[in-house]
Amino acid sequence: MKSFKPANEIQDLQYFGEFGGVNPSISDSSTYTFLSAKTMFDTFEGNADGCYLYSRHTTPSNLYLGEALAAMEGTETANVAATGMGAITPALLQLCQAGDHIVSSRTIYGGTYAFLKNFTPRLGIETSFVDITKLDVVEAAITKNTKVLYCESVSNPLLEVADISGLAQIAKKHNLKLLVDNTFSPLTITPANLGADVVLHSLTKFINGSSDTMGGVICGTQEFIDNLRNVNDGASMLLGSSMDSLRASSILKNMRTLHIRMKQHSHNAHFLAQKFEEDGLKTVYPGLKSHPSHKLFTSMMNKEYGYGGMLTIDVGSLEKANQLMELMQERNLGYLAVSLGFYKTLFSAPGSSTSSEIPEDEQKEMGLTGGLIRFSIGLDNDIKRTYEQMKSCMKQLAIL
Ligand SMILES: *Cc1c(COP(=O)(O)O)cnc(C)c1O
Repeated sequence: MKSFKPANEIQDLQYFGEFGGVNPSISDSSTYTFLSAKTMFDTFEGNADGCYLYSRHTTPSNLYLGEALAAMEGTETANVAATGMGAITPALLQLCQAGDHIVSSRTIYGGTYAFLKNFTPRLGIETSFVDITKLDVVEAAITKNTKVLYCESVSNPLLEVADISGLAQIAKKHNLKLLVDNTFSPLTITPANLGADVVLHSLTKFINGSSDTMGGVICGTQEFIDNLRNVNDGASMLLGSSMDSLRASSILKNMRTLHIRMKQHSHNAHFLAQKFEEDGLKTVYPGLKSHPSHKLFTSMMNKEYGYGGMLTIDVGSLEKANQLMELMQERNLGYLAVSLGFYKTLFSAPGSSTSSEIPEDEQKEMGLTGGLIRFSIGLDNDIKRTYEQMKSCMKQLAIL
């Protein structure tokens, strides 16, 4: 494994433009010329390092972004994709074939859940969904066909925390790959340092942070990433969810402020979570002592980045949740929108939006109630003022 070089040291990464520009030049080409036919053949076979062939494979701009993300996650290398799902689905399909089995957390992103629940069974891949916080339950779900253990470091939308070291031990014992989606906690948690084999992100969220593009990444060993890009049987290469170079270069630029943004997201979310809890609202935030995995999160986190920008409150009913979100939007406290990591606060009711792929009875079982509001807390400079204005909305609606 390469030395750990997180993105707060992104100033250590040095890619010049071809004319000495302080930003790397953007490789705005879908195809590349060769001076000799032999080099073209070698490139196709993957034997000509540093040569580019065709941009579905990779591009210089995509490699720069991938290397920055690999440095952040402490993996050998990384492959960027057009979306988060465009990273998650090929990673799973590269590791599993017909007859194989996956053990997954039951509280995961709705799209990933739908893929494992409804799509991969068509390919003969079955998934058992378990309570990821119970290691004995996880281990009991493993069969002789299991190939992959799948979870999110901090789960969407319930903010359950995975014991990544504990899961890594189980994975090692049973010869499985541990895949961790770290979208909710970039920099805060570094899954590969805790034993994860593959780390996934939707770059659409905190990492890009400006809600202007989609993106994804698979961070892993050189061997795994080479396999994904293989022209003959690589899932990333063949399923074709490649990122565009212009987007890769804009995400790399945004990534340079990720460490500053994460600290502010965490600071603001922690402040609001404490206040909401004091006010008697049912509040879930990993930084609160009342969070069932507060100690676990504290033991895993890179402390300077705090407990992250995501929190949930439960206001009792979907009707109240909708009223509150509409009123907060009217008062310019944030947007009623899905997604996360924006400079403004975003809020949504997961049961009827981002997790609507999960059937209602299963939502209930996992504790996903109708009155739940998920907040991605923004970069507000005066969070105290934001809190007071949110409180006044809650008072007006008799939530407080
Ligand atoms: C948004 C999200 C995804 C999917 O990413 P896209 O960029 O929308 O494809 C996957 N996992 C988590 C945790 C997410 O929040």
